[in-house]
Amino acid sequence: MAKEMREPIETGCPDPFQYMHPVMRKNFGMWKYHEHPRPGVLRHVANSGDEIWTVRVGTQRILDVFSLRELCDIGDEFADGYIHFTIRSNLEYQLSDGSKVDALIKAVEDKGYVVGGTQNSVTMLSHTQGWLHCDIPGTDASGVVKSMMDELIDDFRTTEMPNRVHITTSCCQINCGGQGDIAINVQHTKPPKINHDLVANVCERPSVVARCPVAAIRPALVNGKPSLEVDEKKCICCGACFPPCPPMQINDAEHTKLAIWVGGNHSNARGKPTFQRLVAAGIPNNPPRWPEATAIVKRILKAYKEGARDWERINEWVERIGWPRFFEEVELPFTKYHIDNWRGARRSLNSSNYIRF
Ligand code: SF4
Ligand code: SF4
Repeated sequence: MAKEMREPIETGCPDPFQYMHPVMRKNFGMWKYHEHPRPGVLRHVANSGDEIWTVRVGTQRILDVFSLRELCDIGDEFADGYIHFTIRSNLEYQLSDGSKVDALIKAVEDKGYVVGGTQNSVTMLSHTQGWLHCDIPGTDASGVVKSMMDELIDDFRTTEMPNRVHITTSCCQINCGGQGDIAINVQHTKPPKINHDLVANVCERPSVVARCPVAAIRPALVNGKPSLEVDEKKCICCGACFPPCPPMQINDAEHTKLAIWVGGNHSNARGKPTFQRLVAAGIPNNPPRWPEATAIVKRILKAYKEGARDWERINEWVERIGWPRFFEEVELPFTKYHIDNWRGARRSLNSSNYIRF
Protein backbone atom coordinates (compact mmCIF):
# COMPACT_ATOMS: atom_id res chain seq x y z
CA MET A 1 0.00 0.00 0.00
CA ALA A 2 1.29 3.47 -0.79
CA LYS A 3 2.62 5.32 2.22
CA GLU A 4 0.41 8.33 1.78
CA MET A 5 -3.03 7.62 0.45
CA ARG A 6 -4.88 10.36 -1.31
CA GLU A 7 -7.81 11.65 0.68
CA PRO A 8 -11.16 10.91 -0.93
CA ILE A 9 -12.71 13.92 -2.67
CA GLU A 10 -16.01 14.59 -1.02
CA THR A 11 -18.76 15.75 -3.32
CA GLY A 12 -22.45 16.22 -2.74
CA CYS A 13 -24.44 18.95 -1.10
CA PRO A 14 -22.40 21.80 0.36
CA ASP A 15 -22.96 22.76 3.99
CA PRO A 16 -26.28 24.66 3.90
CA PHE A 17 -25.55 26.77 6.97
CA GLN A 18 -23.15 29.01 5.07
CA TYR A 19 -26.02 30.12 2.80
CA MET A 20 -28.65 30.61 5.49
CA HIS A 21 -29.94 33.95 6.64
CA PRO A 22 -28.07 34.79 9.91
CA VAL A 23 -31.36 34.89 11.86
CA MET A 24 -32.14 31.35 10.70
CA ARG A 25 -28.66 30.16 11.62
CA LYS A 26 -28.90 31.71 15.06
CA ASN A 27 -32.32 30.18 15.80
CA PHE A 28 -31.82 26.80 14.15
CA GLY A 29 -34.11 24.23 15.82
CA MET A 30 -35.58 26.82 18.19
CA TRP A 31 -38.64 28.11 16.40
CA LYS A 32 -41.76 28.71 18.45
CA TYR A 33 -44.51 29.07 15.86
CA HIS A 34 -45.25 30.35 12.39
CA GLU A 35 -48.19 32.04 10.73
CA HIS A 36 -49.41 32.80 7.25
CA PRO A 37 -50.32 36.50 7.07
CA ARG A 38 -51.21 36.45 3.35
CA PRO A 39 -50.79 34.16 0.34
CA GLY A 40 -47.11 33.79 -0.49
CA VAL A 41 -45.85 35.11 2.86
CA LEU A 42 -44.83 33.21 6.02
CA ARG A 43 -43.75 34.64 9.36
CA HIS A 44 -41.69 32.43 11.66
CA VAL A 45 -41.12 33.48 15.28
CA ALA A 46 -38.28 32.01 17.37
CA ASN A 47 -38.15 31.39 21.12
CA SER A 48 -35.63 34.24 21.29
CA GLY A 49 -38.23 36.66 19.90
CA ASP A 50 -36.43 36.95 16.54
CA GLU A 51 -38.60 36.67 13.51
CA ILE A 52 -38.06 35.87 9.86
CA TRP A 53 -40.39 36.65 6.98
CA THR A 54 -40.44 34.50 3.86
CA VAL A 55 -41.85 35.73 0.54
CA ARG A 56 -42.41 33.00 -2.05
CA VAL A 57 -42.19 33.90 -5.73
CA GLY A 58 -43.07 31.78 -8.75
CA THR A 59 -40.51 31.64 -11.54
CA GLN A 60 -40.47 30.21 -15.03
CA ARG A 61 -38.32 27.35 -13.63
CA ILE A 62 -35.52 27.42 -16.20
CA LEU A 63 -34.00 30.83 -15.53
CA ASP A 64 -31.79 32.88 -17.80
CA VAL A 65 -28.89 34.87 -16.34
CA PHE A 66 -30.69 38.18 -16.84
CA SER A 67 -33.72 37.08 -14.77
CA LEU A 68 -31.50 35.59 -12.07
CA ARG A 69 -29.54 38.83 -11.75
CA GLU A 70 -32.77 40.81 -11.65
CA LEU A 71 -34.17 38.60 -8.88
CA CYS A 72 -30.90 38.71 -6.94
CA ASP A 73 -30.77 42.52 -7.17
CA ILE A 74 -34.24 42.65 -5.58
CA GLY A 75 -32.94 40.32 -2.85
CA ASP A 76 -29.96 42.60 -2.24
CA GLU A 77 -32.18 45.66 -1.98
CA PHE A 78 -35.01 44.33 0.20
CA ALA A 79 -34.13 40.90 1.62
CA ASP A 80 -30.74 41.18 3.31
CA GLY A 81 -29.11 39.48 0.29
CA TYR A 82 -30.44 35.97 0.97
CA ILE A 83 -32.56 33.84 -1.37
CA HIS A 84 -33.13 30.16 -1.86
CA PHE A 85 -35.04 27.92 -4.26
CA THR A 86 -37.56 25.32 -3.16
CA ILE A 87 -37.68 21.87 -4.70
CA ARG A 88 -40.52 23.12 -6.95
CA SER A 89 -38.44 26.04 -8.22
CA ASN A 90 -40.23 28.64 -6.17
CA LEU A 91 -37.83 31.35 -5.15
CA GLU A 92 -37.95 32.40 -1.50
CA TYR A 93 -36.69 35.69 -0.12
CA GLN A 94 -36.07 35.91 3.60
CA LEU A 95 -36.15 39.11 5.61
CA SER A 96 -35.70 39.87 9.28
CA ASP A 97 -37.51 43.19 8.93
CA GLY A 98 -41.25 42.70 8.32
CA SER A 99 -41.71 46.36 7.34
CA LYS A 100 -39.93 45.67 4.03
CA VAL A 101 -42.28 42.86 2.93
CA ASP A 102 -44.75 45.05 1.03
CA ALA A 103 -41.97 46.90 -0.80
CA LEU A 104 -40.35 43.57 -1.75
CA ILE A 105 -43.64 42.21 -3.10
CA LYS A 106 -44.19 45.36 -5.14
CA ALA A 107 -40.67 45.12 -6.58
CA VAL A 108 -41.09 41.49 -7.74
CA GLU A 109 -44.61 42.08 -9.10
CA ASP A 110 -43.46 45.18 -10.97
CA LYS A 111 -40.94 42.93 -12.76
CA GLY A 112 -43.72 40.52 -13.77
CA TYR A 113 -43.21 37.72 -11.22
CA VAL A 114 -46.00 36.32 -9.04
CA VAL A 115 -46.14 35.92 -5.28
CA GLY A 116 -47.99 32.91 -3.87
CA GLY A 117 -47.64 29.14 -3.71
CA THR A 118 -48.05 28.77 0.05
CA GLN A 119 -50.59 26.84 2.13
CA ASN A 120 -53.77 25.82 0.21
CA SER A 121 -52.61 26.89 -3.21
CA VAL A 122 -51.58 25.15 -6.39
CA THR A 123 -47.87 25.62 -5.96
CA MET A 124 -45.38 25.62 -8.86
CA LEU A 125 -45.54 22.54 -11.05
CA SER A 126 -42.33 20.56 -10.82
CA HIS A 127 -40.82 19.06 -13.91
CA THR A 128 -38.00 16.85 -15.01
CA GLN A 129 -35.07 18.17 -17.02
CA GLY A 130 -36.44 17.79 -20.52
CA TRP A 131 -34.67 18.83 -23.69
CA LEU A 132 -32.29 21.13 -21.86
CA HIS A 133 -30.29 18.47 -19.98
CA CYS A 134 -31.48 15.04 -21.05
CA ASP A 135 -31.21 12.96 -24.22
CA ILE A 136 -34.43 10.92 -24.09
CA PRO A 137 -37.43 13.21 -23.51
CA GLY A 138 -40.66 12.55 -25.38
CA THR A 139 -42.02 16.01 -24.61
CA ASP A 140 -40.85 19.40 -23.41
CA ALA A 141 -41.72 19.17 -19.72
CA SER A 142 -40.85 22.81 -19.04
CA GLY A 143 -43.19 23.91 -21.84
CA VAL A 144 -46.05 21.90 -20.32
CA VAL A 145 -45.32 23.52 -16.95
CA LYS A 146 -45.24 27.05 -18.36
CA SER A 147 -48.49 26.59 -20.31
CA MET A 148 -50.33 25.12 -17.33
CA MET A 149 -49.04 27.65 -14.81
CA ASP A 150 -50.17 30.47 -17.11
CA GLU A 151 -53.70 29.04 -16.77
CA LEU A 152 -53.45 28.25 -13.05
CA ILE A 153 -51.89 31.52 -11.97
CA ASP A 154 -54.92 32.56 -9.88
CA ASP A 155 -54.75 29.28 -7.96
CA PHE A 156 -51.06 30.02 -7.25
CA ARG A 157 -51.80 33.53 -5.99
CA THR A 158 -54.71 32.55 -3.73
CA THR A 159 -55.20 29.90 -1.08
CA GLU A 160 -58.68 28.72 -1.93
CA MET A 161 -58.01 25.02 -2.52
CA PRO A 162 -59.12 22.53 0.18
CA ASN A 163 -55.44 21.73 0.78
CA ARG A 164 -52.17 22.21 -1.06
CA VAL A 165 -51.90 20.77 -4.57
CA HIS A 166 -48.65 19.43 -6.01
CA ILE A 167 -48.61 18.92 -9.77
CA THR A 168 -45.68 17.28 -11.55
CA THR A 169 -44.69 16.51 -15.11
CA SER A 170 -42.33 13.95 -16.55
CA CYS A 171 -40.88 13.81 -20.04
CA CYS A 172 -40.25 10.06 -20.36
CA GLN A 173 -41.93 7.00 -18.90
CA ILE A 174 -39.06 5.43 -17.06
CA ASN A 175 -36.61 7.65 -15.24
CA CYS A 176 -37.19 10.80 -13.17
CA GLY A 177 -40.92 10.20 -13.35
CA GLY A 178 -43.68 12.38 -12.06
CA GLN A 179 -45.55 11.58 -8.87
CA GLY A 180 -47.91 14.05 -7.25
CA ASP A 181 -51.52 14.95 -6.51
CA ILE A 182 -51.77 15.31 -10.30
CA ALA A 183 -49.01 14.08 -12.62
CA ILE A 184 -48.73 14.67 -16.36
CA ASN A 185 -46.46 11.97 -17.76
CA VAL A 186 -45.33 10.89 -21.19
CA GLN A 187 -46.99 7.77 -22.60
CA HIS A 188 -45.52 5.96 -25.59
CA THR A 189 -48.10 3.98 -27.52
CA LYS A 190 -46.05 2.19 -30.19
CA PRO A 191 -42.99 -0.08 -29.90
CA PRO A 192 -39.61 1.37 -30.91
CA LYS A 193 -38.62 1.53 -34.58
CA ILE A 194 -35.15 0.06 -35.05
CA ASN A 195 -32.54 1.59 -37.32
CA HIS A 196 -30.67 -1.68 -38.02
CA ASP A 197 -27.78 0.04 -39.83
CA LEU A 198 -26.79 1.83 -36.64
CA VAL A 199 -27.39 -0.75 -33.92
CA ALA A 200 -24.10 -2.62 -34.38
CA ASN A 201 -22.10 0.63 -34.27
CA VAL A 202 -23.86 2.34 -31.40
CA CYS A 203 -25.43 -0.17 -29.01
CA GLU A 204 -24.07 -2.69 -26.57
CA ARG A 205 -26.61 -5.34 -27.44
CA PRO A 206 -26.50 -7.46 -24.23
CA SER A 207 -27.15 -4.35 -22.10
CA VAL A 208 -30.10 -3.41 -24.28
CA VAL A 209 -31.57 -6.93 -24.08
CA ALA A 210 -31.15 -6.88 -20.28
CA ARG A 211 -32.77 -3.46 -20.05
CA CYS A 212 -36.19 -4.61 -21.25
CA PRO A 213 -38.51 -5.26 -18.27
CA VAL A 214 -40.60 -7.81 -20.18
CA ALA A 215 -37.84 -9.62 -22.09
CA ALA A 216 -39.23 -8.47 -25.44
CA ILE A 217 -35.82 -7.80 -27.07
CA ARG A 218 -33.74 -10.50 -28.74
CA PRO A 219 -30.42 -10.35 -30.60
CA ALA A 220 -30.92 -10.80 -34.34
CA LEU A 221 -28.93 -10.76 -37.56
CA VAL A 222 -30.44 -8.27 -40.02
CA ASN A 223 -28.98 -7.89 -43.54
CA GLY A 224 -25.92 -9.77 -42.33
CA LYS A 225 -25.28 -7.30 -39.51
CA PRO A 226 -25.75 -7.92 -35.78
CA SER A 227 -28.86 -6.11 -34.60
CA LEU A 228 -31.87 -6.54 -32.34
CA GLU A 229 -35.53 -7.39 -32.75
CA VAL A 230 -38.55 -6.62 -30.61
CA ASP A 231 -41.43 -8.98 -29.91
CA GLU A 232 -44.18 -6.39 -30.36
CA LYS A 233 -46.79 -8.56 -28.62
CA LYS A 234 -44.78 -8.42 -25.42
CA CYS A 235 -43.52 -4.81 -25.68
CA ILE A 236 -45.20 -2.46 -23.23
CA CYS A 237 -43.82 0.65 -25.01
CA CYS A 238 -41.96 1.83 -21.92
CA GLY A 239 -38.99 3.31 -23.80
CA ALA A 240 -36.37 1.76 -21.50
CA CYS A 241 -34.39 0.46 -24.50
CA PHE A 242 -34.06 3.91 -26.08
CA PRO A 243 -31.49 5.49 -23.67
CA PRO A 244 -28.85 2.74 -24.06
CA CYS A 245 -29.64 2.34 -27.76
CA PRO A 246 -30.80 5.53 -29.54
CA PRO A 247 -31.34 3.63 -32.84
CA MET A 248 -34.36 2.07 -31.09
CA GLN A 249 -36.31 5.27 -31.63
CA ILE A 250 -39.56 5.41 -29.65
CA ASN A 251 -40.30 9.14 -29.57
CA ASP A 252 -42.85 9.95 -32.20
CA ALA A 253 -44.75 13.13 -33.03
CA GLU A 254 -48.05 11.29 -33.33
CA HIS A 255 -47.78 8.20 -31.12
CA THR A 256 -46.05 9.72 -28.10
CA LYS A 257 -48.91 10.97 -25.95
CA LEU A 258 -49.50 12.35 -22.47
CA ALA A 259 -51.27 10.57 -19.63
CA ILE A 260 -52.66 12.08 -16.44
CA TRP A 261 -52.36 10.33 -13.09
CA VAL A 262 -54.03 11.35 -9.84
CA GLY A 263 -53.65 10.76 -6.12
CA GLY A 264 -49.94 10.21 -5.44
CA ASN A 265 -48.90 11.29 -1.98
CA HIS A 266 -46.16 10.69 0.56
CA SER A 267 -47.06 9.24 3.91
CA ASN A 268 -47.84 11.80 6.58
CA ALA A 269 -49.11 11.95 10.13
CA ARG A 270 -52.58 10.97 8.92
CA GLY A 271 -51.98 8.20 6.45
CA LYS A 272 -49.84 5.81 4.46
CA PRO A 273 -48.26 6.74 1.12
CA THR A 274 -50.57 6.37 -1.86
CA PHE A 275 -49.74 5.57 -5.46
CA GLN A 276 -51.18 7.67 -8.23
CA ARG A 277 -53.70 6.07 -10.62
CA LEU A 278 -54.15 6.59 -14.34
CA VAL A 279 -57.21 8.74 -15.08
CA ALA A 280 -56.67 9.90 -18.68
CA ALA A 281 -54.55 8.34 -21.42
CA GLY A 282 -53.75 9.09 -25.04
CA ILE A 283 -53.91 12.89 -24.62
CA PRO A 284 -52.27 14.67 -27.57
CA ASN A 285 -48.71 15.82 -26.86
CA ASN A 286 -49.56 19.14 -28.39
CA PRO A 287 -46.98 21.98 -28.12
CA PRO A 288 -46.68 24.88 -27.68
CA ARG A 289 -49.62 25.18 -25.24
CA TRP A 290 -50.87 21.58 -24.62
CA PRO A 291 -54.54 22.75 -24.40
CA GLU A 292 -56.05 19.24 -24.10
CA ALA A 293 -53.95 18.22 -21.08
CA THR A 294 -54.45 21.63 -19.43
CA ALA A 295 -58.24 21.39 -19.84
CA ILE A 296 -58.31 18.03 -18.02
CA VAL A 297 -56.11 19.31 -15.18
CA LYS A 298 -58.41 22.31 -14.76
CA ARG A 299 -61.49 20.04 -14.61
CA ILE A 300 -59.86 17.90 -11.91
CA LEU A 301 -58.93 20.98 -9.88
CA LYS A 302 -62.43 22.46 -10.23
CA ALA A 303 -64.08 19.23 -9.05
CA TYR A 304 -61.62 18.95 -6.14
CA LYS A 305 -62.14 22.57 -5.12
CA GLU A 306 -65.91 22.21 -5.16
CA GLY A 307 -66.20 18.71 -3.70
CA ALA A 308 -63.44 18.17 -1.15
CA ARG A 309 -63.75 18.90 2.55
CA ASP A 310 -61.39 21.32 4.24
CA TRP A 311 -57.83 19.93 4.39
CA GLU A 312 -58.55 16.86 2.26
CA ARG A 313 -55.72 16.22 -0.19
CA ILE A 314 -56.75 14.99 -3.64
CA ASN A 315 -56.06 11.32 -2.81
CA GLU A 316 -58.16 11.58 0.38
CA TRP A 317 -61.02 13.22 -1.49
CA VAL A 318 -61.02 10.47 -4.14
CA GLU A 319 -60.83 7.72 -1.51
CA ARG A 320 -63.88 9.21 0.23
CA ILE A 321 -66.07 9.68 -2.82
CA GLY A 322 -64.80 6.58 -4.69
CA TRP A 323 -63.24 6.31 -8.14
CA PRO A 324 -66.54 5.84 -10.05
CA ARG A 325 -67.81 9.16 -8.69
CA PHE A 326 -64.43 10.80 -9.41
CA PHE A 327 -64.74 9.90 -13.10
CA GLU A 328 -68.26 11.37 -13.15
CA GLU A 329 -67.20 14.57 -11.41
CA VAL A 330 -64.28 15.27 -13.74
CA GLU A 331 -66.20 14.14 -16.85
CA LEU A 332 -63.58 11.65 -17.93
CA PRO A 333 -64.52 8.33 -19.52
CA PHE A 334 -63.62 5.18 -17.62
CA THR A 335 -62.18 2.84 -20.26
CA LYS A 336 -60.72 -0.65 -20.43
CA TYR A 337 -57.27 0.94 -20.30
CA HIS A 338 -57.85 1.91 -16.68
CA ILE A 339 -58.07 -1.73 -15.60
CA ASP A 340 -54.74 -3.20 -14.62
CA ASN A 341 -55.13 -6.69 -16.01
CA TRP A 342 -51.59 -7.08 -17.32
CA ARG A 343 -49.91 -10.19 -15.97
CA GLY A 344 -46.79 -10.34 -18.16
CA ALA A 345 -44.41 -9.16 -15.51
CA ARG A 346 -45.12 -12.04 -13.16
CA ARG A 347 -43.29 -14.37 -15.49
CA SER A 348 -41.04 -12.10 -17.50
CA LEU A 349 -39.58 -9.89 -14.75
CA ASN A 350 -38.30 -13.08 -13.16
CA SER A 351 -36.44 -13.89 -16.35
CA SER A 352 -34.53 -10.59 -16.41
CA ASN A 353 -30.83 -10.66 -15.54
CA TYR A 354 -31.29 -7.97 -12.95
CA ILE A 355 -34.67 -8.28 -11.32
CA ARG A 356 -35.56 -11.37 -9.33
CA PHE A 357 -38.28 -11.93 -6.76
S1 SF4 B 1 -38.07 12.28 -17.06
FE1 SF4 B 1 -36.86 11.02 -18.50
S2 SF4 B 1 -36.57 12.31 -20.30
FE2 SF4 B 1 -37.19 13.67 -18.63
S3 SF4 B 1 -35.28 14.40 -17.75
FE3 SF4 B 1 -35.89 12.57 -16.58
S4 SF4 B 1 -34.81 10.85 -17.60
FE4 SF4 B 1 -34.77 12.61 -19.00
S1 SF4 C 1 -37.62 -1.85 -23.23
FE1 SF4 C 1 -39.76 -1.19 -23.24
S2 SF4 C 1 -40.05 -0.20 -25.24
FE2 SF4 C 1 -38.13 -1.38 -25.37
S3 SF4 C 1 -38.80 -3.35 -26.21
FE3 SF4 C 1 -38.82 -3.58 -24.00
S4 SF4 C 1 -40.91 -3.09 -23.40
FE4 SF4 C 1 -40.64 -2.35 -25.50
